[in-house]
Amino acid sequence: MANLNIRSKQERTYQAIVIGSGISGAWAAKEFCDLGVKTLMLERGRNVEHIKDYPTTNLLPYEFPHRNQIPQEIQEANPVISRCYAFREDAMHFFVKDTDHPYVQEKPFDWIRGYQVGGKSLLWARQVQRWSDFDFDGPARDGFAVDWPIRYKDIEKWYSHVEKFAGVSGFKDGIPHLPDGEFLPGYELNVVEKYFAEQLKKHYGNDRHMISARCAHIHGNAEYYAQQGRAMCQNRNLCQRGCPFGGYFSSNSSTIPWALKTGNLTLRPDAVVHSIIYDEEKGKATGVRIIDRLTKETEEFYADVIFVNAAALNTNAILLNSTSNRFPNGLGNDNGLLGKFVAFHNYRARVSGEYEGHSEFTTSGGRPTSGYFPRFRNVYKQETDFLRGYAAGFSASRGVGPDTSGIGMDLKNSLLNPDKYGPWRVGSHMMGETIPKETNFVALDPNQKDEWGMPQLRISVDYDDNDEKMVKDYIEQMTEMFTKAGFTNIQSADSKQAPGLDIHEMGGVRMGKDPKTSLLNANHQLHAVPNVYVTDGASMTSTSTQNPSLTYMAFAARAAHHAVAESKK
Ligand SMILES: Cc1cc2nc3c(=O)[nH]c(=O)nc-3n(C[C@H](O)[C@H](O)[C@H](O)COP(=O)(O)OP(=O)(O)OC[C@H]3O[C@@H](n4cnc5c(N)ncnc54)[C@H](O)[C@@H]3O)c2cc1C
Ligand code: SF4
Repeated sequence: MANLNIRSKQERTYQAIVIGSGISGAWAAKEFCDLGVKTLMLERGRNVEHIKDYPTTNLLPYEFPHRNQIPQEIQEANPVISRCYAFREDAMHFFVKDTDHPYVQEKPFDWIRGYQVGGKSLLWARQVQRWSDFDFDGPARDGFAVDWPIRYKDIEKWYSHVEKFAGVSGFKDGIPHLPDGEFLPGYELNVVEKYFAEQLKKHYGNDRHMISARCAHIHGNAEYYAQQGRAMCQNRNLCQRGCPFGGYFSSNSSTIPWALKTGNLTLRPDAVVHSIIYDEEKGKATGVRIIDRLTKETEEFYADVIFVNAAALNTNAILLNSTSNRFPNGLGNDNGLLGKFVAFHNYRARVSGEYEGHSEFTTSGGRPTSGYFPRFRNVYKQETDFLRGYAAGFSASRGVGPDTSGIGMDLKNSLLNPDKYGPWRVGSHMMGETIPKETNFVALDPNQKDEWGMPQLRISVDYDDNDEKMVKDYIEQMTEMFTKAGFTNIQSADSKQAPGLDIHEMGGVRMGKDPKTSLLNANHQLHAVPNVYVTDGASMTSTSTQNPSLTYMAFAARAAHHAVAESKK
């Protein structure tokens, strides 16, 4: 392998290095740059510039060669990503193809990745709910994993900080275990969704709620977001193509251009991070080794502080691959727990139905979010034979029935004839908390290597009995609620999908109070190497039920400020 360290060491030295330019890494970089820190952001994928590199953003359905479907040969070659709902012709260029980046599935695991500047921030569904103390207290209260070293009060102001900048729409719902935030105006629920929320109140009092999901879209205060070059969301619902208005939050539309404007950010795409360099004499990490994605040449960069934000499982891989005499089993891995206690969200079950009422209404136009059921099981007391619980998505819609008779004007009339509208369709999907376990782990495969000569990641993650009971309970409870609301034709399904398709993999480098049982301290520093921080999903001690990315953003911002304060001591 050729060596590209031809530039002077000084030219390759920064104050901070951030590995990964996705949701969490770009937040860390933005905060560093705002604080005047010269920052290098290393990203393994190609550059994706806002607007310029969104080739499908304005295409009409008939302009796609396959009408936005994935051709069969691509599906067959890529069974894992083909199971992701967002893998369609309009966004397929933002997904990692199974064949390009293989990994070892000791047990089935659908690993969905986006290797490019912006990471998965281009693809995400933008649902953002805060954690509360119910979530941070969880492991200690219910006796699993280890106690989180932080609580809501430690992170509350950072939630506000990132919500204001990213733009989050929502209502102040006043639910103690789903704290309200700094919201732009919320998106209204439709008439049947409101009806269902009222029915829940009638039958369950204040114990169960269905609210408009908070989402990272600009819905008001356009002037403030114009500073970022972003504009109001137009409700096109074509977000996964990249939004030319910057209507939703992505690293590409928001944090990266902002950080670049400060003049403090150097963005280096095509830099596959191989490992972190540990200096035994200095007793700290001094830099990062990369392999150029295209030329395969190696290069080293140096900094006082290093943030690892490569998305949960890749962050584990980088730390496991960072070996030295002091850390033969991976950086900071004194207790042998690096890569263990990986967890995820259980998205297996769905319940759907119909509603004959409100037939004078219908839905038209788009809305970039839906209804959200905050968790209700085991919140105030342990009431089931499984630990923890689930949140759920909910939506109701009524569209034109499938009457395609006639051609020309006749066809148009058939399609738009309100008499042909069927009943309302209602649907819900489960978002369950899973319990982190030592037996759910990732490790480096001793034999299989990737194209860059790095060990492939071996993933061994599965459901357990707690998850099975939770799926059953979700189906029973949702069916009961649908029945009480007068919905009919209620159907339920357990997809039995493999872990991973939730795209909320977490853990492996968990936070904790005790270096014997955790890898990171309360400030996201490796206990054993405090100038290395991890603020993505790898740091999660437990998973709770909320979509996690808002928490990673808040963690990244908080930790960047901590690192800067430390450097001034
Ligand atoms: C279809 C879809 C819907 C989703 N919906 C939601 C949602 O509604 N709400 C929510 O909270 N979350 C959602 N998610 C999950 C969300 O996208 C992730 O939680 C989030 O992107 C994680 O941020 P991150 O910075 O850790 O990782 P990423 O955004 O994935 O960024 C990681 C970056 O690191 C880079 N990288 C990896 N390895 C290396 C290496 N060795 N060297 C250099 N760079 C490297 C990657 O290329 C990538 O750019 C969704 C994801 C998908 C795909
Ligand atoms: S729904 Fe909003 S954010 Fe999504 S593509 Fe449309 S304008 Fe952009």
